[in-house]
Amino acid sequence: MGELNLILLGPPGAGKGTQAQRLVEDFDLPYYATGDILRAAVKEESELGREAKEYMERGDLVPDVVICRVIMERVDSKEAEDGFLLDGFPRTNGQAETLEEALERRGRRLTAALLIEAPDEEVIRRLSGRRICVKNQHLYHVEFDPPKREGVCDQDGSRLIQRDDDKPETVRKRLDVYHEQTKPLVAHYEQMALLRRFDGTRPATEVHDHIRAAVATLRLEDEL
Ligand SMILES: [Zn+2]
Repeated sequence: MGELNLILLGPPGAGKGTQAQRLVEDFDLPYYATGDILRAAVKEESELGREAKEYMERGDLVPDVVICRVIMERVDSKEAEDGFLLDGFPRTNGQAETLEEALERRGRRLTAALLIEAPDEEVIRRLSGRRICVKNQHLYHVEFDPPKREGVCDQDGSRLIQRDDDKPETVRKRLDVYHEQTKPLVAHYEQMALLRRFDGTRPATEVHDHIRAAVATLRLEDEL
C-alpha cells in the first residue's frame, strides 16, 4: 500500500475537525494536531518538550525548526509508517519547506494537501451562532441546533452564552490571520500539484464522501 502523508488546511468553522475524525477512521491514520502535540511534548518533558516550553513561557513563538522536530518525532513513530494526517502544521511556507526537507531526508514525501474551503460570511454565521451553557458546557447553535427556550440550556436550565472566541469581531480577526498565512501556503501546494480543494459549505457527509474518494484515488495512483 502507498503511504498517505496528508496535510489538512482550512479556516476555522469549515468542519476540519469532523473531517479529520472520519479520515482517521477510514484510512487508519494517526492524526497530529500541532497544538495538542506541542502540549503533549511539554507535558512528557521530553528534551524537545522542555525546549518548546522555554519559548512558550517567555511568550515567544516556538521556532519552526523546533516545531518541525516535534512533529517529525511523531512522523518517525511506528504508527505513522503508512502515513499521517497533519493539522495546524505547516502554517507558513517556511514551515512547509522545513517539513518537505525533513520528509525527503527520510525518503518520504507528501501525498496531498486537503483544503476545506468556506467563505468568510459562512464561517462567521457558523461560529458566531454557537452558544454554550455556563454550567456544563452543552453546545447549541441559534440557527442549526437551537435550545427549546432562547438563552436557556435544555439539559440543565443554565444560561447560554457566546464564547469570546465566537464573537463576530474575533472570528473576523482569526479569519484575517488565516488568510494572510494560508494564501501563500495554498499557492505553494498548488504549484507542487499537491492541492485538493473541497467545498466546506456542503453537508459534512457529502464533504466526507468527496475527500474519501479523492484520497482513495491518490493511494491508487501512488501504487502504480
Ligand atoms: Zn447545559
